[in-house]
Amino acid sequence: MLNRLHRSGFQAYLVGGGVRDLLLGHKPKDFDVATDATPEQVRGIFRNCRLIGRRFRLAHVIYGRDIIEVATFRGAHKESLPQTDNGMLMRDNVWGTLEEDAERRDFSVNALYYNIADFSIVDYVGGMRDLENRMLRLLGDPETRYREDPVRMLRAIRFAAKLDFDIDPEADDPIPELAYLLDDVPAARLFEEVLKLFMGGYGEVVYDLLRDYELFGRLFPATARALETAPESASRLLFHGIVNTDKRVLYGRPVTPGFLFAVLLWEPVRQLAERYRAGGEEAVVAVQQASSEVVSEQVRRVSIPRRFSTMSREIWHLQPRFHATAGKRPQRLASHPRFRAAYDFLQLRALAGEVDPALVEWWRSYYEASDSVHGEAEPRRRRRPRRRRRGPPKSGGAAQ
Ligand code: ATP
Ligand code: MG
Repeated sequence: MLNRLHRSGFQAYLVGGGVRDLLLGHKPKDFDVATDATPEQVRGIFRNCRLIGRRFRLAHVIYGRDIIEVATFRGAHKESLPQTDNGMLMRDNVWGTLEEDAERRDFSVNALYYNIADFSIVDYVGGMRDLENRMLRLLGDPETRYREDPVRMLRAIRFAAKLDFDIDPEADDPIPELAYLLDDVPAARLFEEVLKLFMGGYGEVVYDLLRDYELFGRLFPATARALETAPESASRLLFHGIVNTDKRVLYGRPVTPGFLFAVLLWEPVRQLAERYRAGGEEAVVAVQQASSEVVSEQVRRVSIPRRFSTMSREIWHLQPRFHATAGKRPQRLASHPRFRAAYDFLQLRALAGEVDPALVEWWRSYYEASDSVHGEAEPRRRRRPRRRRRGPPKSGGAAQ
């Protein structure tokens, strides 16, 4: 890949998280490439390539299941770049030199370039020193850099948690005061960032840092508000839910944003549902109304794709139904496709002290005894063998 760019007469370096993680002895998640070829030139060289992005134009080169992000050297920041009133950059597509590119990156440890031509590291910004001192140093004037792109505040938290680095005091101090800038960031981008923050296996540390830096309330205003008056059990539920996710990531088990958002937004849903109940609403209806309201407020800050918010809602909606343990109702609940996730959530609530552990125990023995239960983690459930199609598909049908 890098060779091919070289042979075509361009410079090309590995950069970013891949280089940083390699130098730290971690397994890199992916590799980014920086080059002096423009995105169009990159596309001219690689057939398996598509151009993406508006704010930052990039080329994605596709290798089987991997995507390598190829970015053209970015130029020095000019006053004339389009900005919002808060100083946020709308576009950042001025091409530049390698050295300028280094200065446009966020943290010094993310601005190390690996030159495969001679296996050397190019370091214009003191990134190697910061790497040794385990220090996240934001390049340039921190306030300006956070204003240009407020997501850098979240990135500071994420790298501090992931790498176990300290945030340099200069980069650290302005965060709580500038946290409000996150309100300008598109909700879809914040969704991506929230997933990176909480699904990387270090959510526990992330959560504490987000709270300390007053960023959590910008991402989850309803939750932050609800926590102010919440019983102890609410923080415990968040804690256990986040730690559970971390453990699953660590053990390579699947995690879903649907469950994560169910955890993060439960307290405001629970409180609001309680209010509706006090007003005479039936338990299930109260939760449904509360979920709708909380979700629609939330997606204005951090968008949640429908398939995930639907799962969160289902998890919440099933909660009151766990209290009905007589007659045919348990069977109906247990055959709900979301039973397993909802049961896991119930367990979390019991762990937090919000419901009686005896209820979880009842359901555990119920569902171990029954085989009408759906769910991901059910052991040794007989699967109906997939019917295999023999011979070529009938002509006509396939063309539709
Ligand atoms: P990881 O992939 O482990 O999450 P990363 O450092 O590779 O971390 P990416 O989001 O993949 O992060 O970005 C790749 C590189 O692009 C970064 O290392 C950094 O140099 C640069 N970069 C990414 N986002 C920004 C930003 N908001 N501002 C400035 N530079 C950025
Ligand atoms: Mg990366």
